[in-house]
Amino acid sequence: MAGIWVFADNRDRTLELLNAGRSLADRMSARVAAFATEERFAGEYIACGADTVYVHQALAEGQPFESCLPVLADLARAEDPDVILVGATGRGKEIGARLAARLDAGLCSGCVSFDPDDSGKSLKMNRLVYGGAATQTVVCQGRPQMATVPPRTFEPAAAQEGRTGEIVTLPPPPPSSIRVIGRSAKQRDSVDVTEAKIIVCVGRGFEKKEDISLARDLARVLNGEVGCSRPVAEELQWLPEEVYLGISGKKVKPVLYVGLGVSGQVQHITGIRDSKVILAVNRDENAPIFEAADFGIVGDLYQVVPKLIEELKQALEA
Ligand SMILES: Cc1cc2nc3c(=O)[nH]c(=O)nc-3n(C[C@H](O)[C@H](O)[C@H](O)COP(=O)(O)OP(=O)(O)OC[C@H]3O[C@@H](n4cnc5c(N)ncnc54)[C@H](O)[C@@H]3O)c2cc1C
Repeated sequence: MAGIWVFADNRDRTLELLNAGRSLADRMSARVAAFATEERFAGEYIACGADTVYVHQALAEGQPFESCLPVLADLARAEDPDVILVGATGRGKEIGARLAARLDAGLCSGCVSFDPDDSGKSLKMNRLVYGGAATQTVVCQGRPQMATVPPRTFEPAAAQEGRTGEIVTLPPPPPSSIRVIGRSAKQRDSVDVTEAKIIVCVGRGFEKKEDISLARDLARVLNGEVGCSRPVAEELQWLPEEVYLGISGKKVKPVLYVGLGVSGQVQHITGIRDSKVILAVNRDENAPIFEAADFGIVGDLYQVVPKLIEELKQALEA
């Protein structure tokens, strides 16, 4: 194994990929290269596991980030990395696919874990399929072996003292035929649930839209945000689609997830299973969510939630 590249378009995703890349590299006797959008990140990336950091040059006014593609492709042809892990942000998915096409390589999307095969030369790339009900293991025949990795799949790598590495400035990206003529913030009528530390999730166990105030009250006491299952957003349209959780919705990793009247079908659980603590309230003791939950309350949410709020308020005031 010659080298593992980790590429993401921002610092947080790069640190997560460094965690995955470094652990692979240690098992495969490989070196790790990371890419930094600014030189100030290079030292941190080295401390967090990179042996080499390639620093992108500043983009000209109006030049899109994607114009780094020819630079990346030329470098890949010259350096011949065995593995390229790409952070699956909006930009990352596009750059990963286009880079794979330029290198005539395969690309395995949405990988959640990796293992070297017995030969130590190929990578077994694992991804969820059938709505999260099964794991598929993919091995690429060609080189480099490329994969995209969803945000927050791995914890950010921790810095280690005394690590050293080289910093290499990349050539400037060639002029692009695309010009960015303006940027405007995306209009949101909801919070970003992926950033929430505590999520109270509304399921179809709620009888009517107004009752969501119960979930909001609980979220307020816990200092959390409200999310929901897919039918609550898509069918009932009680909450915006940006806050539904699951395989086709948002994948979240809060410290605490509280599911209220959520049955816990696999497509939902796939999006919340990485939560540190899962608490479920459901009146059906056989609801599948209890299999995924750390704590379960079998009961009617209309009785349980007000009691929870009361107890929490008392505990917080004490
Ligand atoms: C391809 C595909 C992708 C999908 N992707 C997603 C996805 O990303 N996210 C997602 O959420 N779903 C997704 N689904 C839908 C998923 O399969 C489930 O249908 C959905 O998650 C169920 O939502 P729910 O748990 O809110 O409702 P239900 O399954 O109807 O469950 C309601 C639960 O509330 C309980 N309940 C009822 N009344 C009360 C009460 N008073 N107190 C306490 N408990 C009560 C019931 O016992 C029941 O368990 C997908 C489906 C498909 C086919």
